[in-house]
Order: sequence, then structure tokens, then C-alpha cells
Amino acid sequence: MAQTSDILVIGGGIAGLSAAAALSAQARVTVLEAEEQIGFHSSGRSATMVHYALGDRLVRALTQASRPFFEAPPEGFSTVPLGHRMPVLVHAREEEREALDALDAEISQFAQLERLDARGVHELCPLLRDDAIHGIADRNGIRLDPHGLLQGNLRLLRNNAGELHAGAKVTAVEQGGGTWKVQTEAGDSYSTPILINAAGAWADVVAQLAGVRPIGLAPRRRTIITFDAPPGTDLADLPFAKTVGDELYFAPESGRLFASPMDEVPSEPTDAQPDEYEVALAAHRMEERTIVKVERIHSRWAGLRSFTPDHHPAAGFAPDAEGFFWLAGQGGFGLQTSPIMARIAASLITGSAWPIDNVSEAELSPGRFVGQAA
Ligand SMILES: Cc1cc2nc3c(=O)[nH]c(=O)nc-3n(C[C@H](O)[C@H](O)[C@H](O)COP(=O)(O)OP(=O)(O)OC[C@H]3O[C@@H](n4cnc5c(N)ncnc54)[C@H](O)[C@@H]3O)c2cc1C
Repeated sequence: MAQTSDILVIGGGIAGLSAAAALSAQARVTVLEAEEQIGFHSSGRSATMVHYALGDRLVRALTQASRPFFEAPPEGFSTVPLGHRMPVLVHAREEEREALDALDAEISQFAQLERLDARGVHELCPLLRDDAIHGIADRNGIRLDPHGLLQGNLRLLRNNAGELHAGAKVTAVEQGGGTWKVQTEAGDSYSTPILINAAGAWADVVAQLAGVRPIGLAPRRRTIITFDAPPGTDLADLPFAKTVGDELYFAPESGRLFASPMDEVPSEPTDAQPDEYEVALAAHRMEERTIVKVERIHSRWAGLRSFTPDHHPAAGFAPDAEGFFWLAGQGGFGLQTSPIMARIAASLITGSAWPIDNVSEAELSPGRFVGQAA
């Protein structure tokens, strides 16, 4: 006998869980996650920042609309703070000044920035080399607790009688008579009128299983390493420091430092593993831009950031399959935009008020990639 729900979500990452939690007050929601653990893939491998130094206007607008949730989550959502303040510093060499000016103008529409000279840059981040002489600082960056965020959404879902089925990899999806029938590898069956595809890097794979046209999702691998800071470094005051170009970011991490060479290596949807080249590149760029000597790499990991063709997320019903809802393409901003993306999904599915003024339904519609129904 198939288990029935009003809404079935494929994917127990931040996208699937936050949408499920947002919908669970009004509907019976079940989440199917292939892995035994929630957030095992991208959502558990990120740099966990909320900042404006990535993406474009739309991504910044989604980030801005999500911030109030992190600062004041709903009553009972989380037993721990969802994050803590961490300043964000974007630094530049003389020849990168124009790029910094352009970024300053863009971010200033969303956040209050301080313009820093060489002295200000080094006061905020003493680890940078002397050639970092220009900077912009956002003192209100947030470093998230991703487990608090994932668990909070799961708690909300369960409090509303929603369910998570872990170790439930979806292997077959078919539609008939207004109902989606879903089968897992373990042989369990589910049926639902509304199927949310929040399968992260696998979202196109899931669409193909369901006979729905894919949106052209491109997963890209990104690598992070951790290592010791120089003795005597005051880690508590360090910012999340990023080059103005996409070369390097680093920040304090559990008594050490982490760094990423901001790699974007095309990948199949898979359990991403760090490659020696990007690991070495992270250490090399860290030594090139800072006074830190990366003597020993303590840990390393990689995860996938999955992009649609225009690098904006896709949220909306598929134009070619009734009841099939896309929630994919969260790129490198899926945690920091998850609260508003969940509300957008809930609005499109339940007909509740559209929750964000400066982003339109059309900008997020999956129809922009797959065209209208034939
Ligand atoms: C190195 C790195 C740094 C990042 N830094 C940041 C940052 O600072 N800030 C930020 O906001 N974002 C950051 N991101 C991006 C962020 O992690 C992602 O945008 C976000 O996690 C995507 O969430 P998701 O739920 O779509 O994907 P996932 O977390 O990957 O979840 C998708 C889930 O679907 C499941 N699934 C797939 N197929 C099936 C199936 N057939 N059946 C059942 N389940 C299935 C998978 O097992 C997976 O758990 C970073 C990412 C990386 C890799």
C-alpha cells in the first residue's frame, strides 16, 4: 500500500527541509532523503556564511529577505542560536580597485558598508599581506550554524506532524490520474498530488525519472581545507575575508582557519570528494594572499554548488507536468536564501501572499528554461 501525503518532498537538504517545514502547518508533508543523515551533501559542506559578496541583485535580494529569520527564528524553532555575527571583508590590491568599487556600489543597495584603506583592512584582518590596500567591510555578516538550521526545520516539520524518511532513495516516479507515484530503492511506495523536487545536484536526474524536462542544472565542485593559524592569532575577531575576484576566501573555523580557492569544477551529481589539485591551490593562494604558512592541512572536504543556466534558483511548478514543483539551483547561496525560498515555495503551492517585493515569480519560474507546455 502506498503511503499518501498532500505534499511529498524529494531531498532532505536545506531546500527540501525548509520548504517542508514552511508547508507543514497547512498540509501533510513527507520528506524522502536518500542518505541516512539530513544535509549529508551540499547543505552539510558549505562555508555557512550569510553575506552579500556573491551572486547578483536577485541573489542579494533573496539573502536580504532571509536575514530576519536567522536573527529572530520563529518561537521554538531552534534551541541554539542559528548563527553569530562575523564581519565580512572584501579586500583588493591596487589593480583590483575598480572591481572593488563596482562591488561596493552593488552591495551598498542591500547592506551598510564601510570603505577601508590599507590600515583599516589590516586592523580588521592582520593576516593579509601588505598588498591588500583597499577593502569594504560589512560588520553584520552572519556565520550560520547549519545543524541548528537543518534541525530547526526538521523540528518544525515534525511538530506539525510531518515526516522525514531517511535512507529512502527515490528510484521511480510516475504520474497518473492527478497523482504522483514514487518508489524507493528499499521498495516503499508513496503517492501524492504535489511532488517537490529538492534533490540538489540530482534535481535534473529526478526530473528525468519523472519524465519531466530537465532545466539544465550544472553541479560544480568547491573545496575547503582547514589548517592552523599562526601562533597568537586572535581567531575570535577575524572576519570572513574574500578577495574581490573569485580567488580565495578564508575565515576562522573551530580553533583553526578554513580556506577555499573558490573552485567551480564541473561535476556529475555525486558524493563530491576533494581533489589534490584544488587542495594544493587553496594552500597556495592562502600563502600568496596572507602571511599564513600552511604547514599541515588538518581536514579537507568538497561539496557541489548547482547552478541553473542563469545562476538564479528555480522555484515553481513545471510547465510540462502538473503537480511537479521545482526547488533547485541554489548555487552557492542555498543556506542564506533558504528562509525566503521556503516561503516562496509555500506561496506558489498554497496560494498564500507572495512574500518578497523585489523578486518576481517570473524571475524564478522553471518555465524560463524548459519553455511552456507543448
Ligand atoms: C564549499 C561550499 C561552500 C558553500 N558556502 C555557502 C555559504 O557560505 N552560504 C550559503 O548560503 N551557501 C553556501 N553553499 C551552497 C549551499 O551549500 C547549497 O546551495 C545548499 O546546500 C543546497 O541545498 P539543497 O538542499 O538544494 O542540496 P543538498 O543539501 O545537496 O540536498 C539535496 C538532497 O537530495 C537528496 N537526494 C538526491 N536525489 C535523491 C533521490 N533520488 N531520492 C531521495 N533523496 C535524494 C540528496 O541525498 C541530498 O541530501 C556552499 C556550498 C559548498 C559546496
